[in-house]
Amino acid sequence: MMGTQRLWIAAAAGAAVLATNVMAPSPTAAQESTGAKLRVIASFSILGDFVRNVGGDRLEVATLVGPNGNAHVYSPSPADAKKVSDAKLVFVNGLGFEGWLDRLVKASATKAPIIVASKGIKPLERAGAHDRDHEHGSADPHAWQSVANAKIYISNIRDALIAADPAGKRDYESSAATYLARLDALERELRDTLGKIPLDRRRVITSHNAFGYFEAAYRIHFTAPQGVSTESEASAKDVAAIISATRKEKVSAVFLENVTDPRLVQQIASETGAKVGGLLYSDALTDEKGDAPTYIDLIRHNLRQLATALTS
Ligand SMILES: [Zn+2]
Repeated sequence: MMGTQRLWIAAAAGAAVLATNVMAPSPTAAQESTGAKLRVIASFSILGDFVRNVGGDRLEVATLVGPNGNAHVYSPSPADAKKVSDAKLVFVNGLGFEGWLDRLVKASATKAPIIVASKGIKPLERAGAHDRDHEHGSADPHAWQSVANAKIYISNIRDALIAADPAGKRDYESSAATYLARLDALERELRDTLGKIPLDRRRVITSHNAFGYFEAAYRIHFTAPQGVSTESEASAKDVAAIISATRKEKVSAVFLENVTDPRLVQQIASETGAKVGGLLYSDALTDEKGDAPTYIDLIRHNLRQLATALTS
């Protein structure tokens, strides 16, 4: 009630100022009158959602790789360099995910701290015979696919925002606590639902190896013709190996992803008779109208797709 009232008064005062101003206010003046939000950047859409949930109204969050974008093969634009140079904080995933970042940071000449949101997470090795991306380091970058890890991202984001904007400490702490409680509930939902899937129905195929952390946390086994990055193409030999393994072993479903070419997975499905279980969101959210405009929606969507395909 109080908050609403105060807002109304502020809006009325703003209108009065505008009405008495003959000249249009400069952008700086307009910014100050709306309470100068802290401008921050997140490298990709999932991280942007995390930052928005902790920062709320105190922040103006921009992302570099947008909805349905593939951060593995992103090439930053001059507009991205401008966004980075305007930002007070730059949030990145780390673990070798944003191979293009160092050059962008240099080009932008930003002095903003670069916050590695995955700091403190135990990285998984880039696993599997199907991975030839070793030139970019040895860690699997897709740490957000485990909800326990997402909680570490949130704590890191909260601490970085408090350090940059101590006046917002209580807001950041309270928003982070609310969101962490939602993640706890999400984790219980995942374990309850996936726990009911029989052990011999837990093998699935996706296009690229983005679900290693999900596999380690929730015991669903993923195989992929492409490695943990999509920079290199799957080799014919790898695809043939997956096709023959799929014929021999019991694979319950193959899944498409929103950030990769669907043809490879469709080929595997048609050559083996494995059914296409639907679409999983791996490295990016959808836009507002899609199935996964937030991280929590993304995990719930993937959970429903897996549960349906592996129990029917
Ligand atoms: Zn990926």
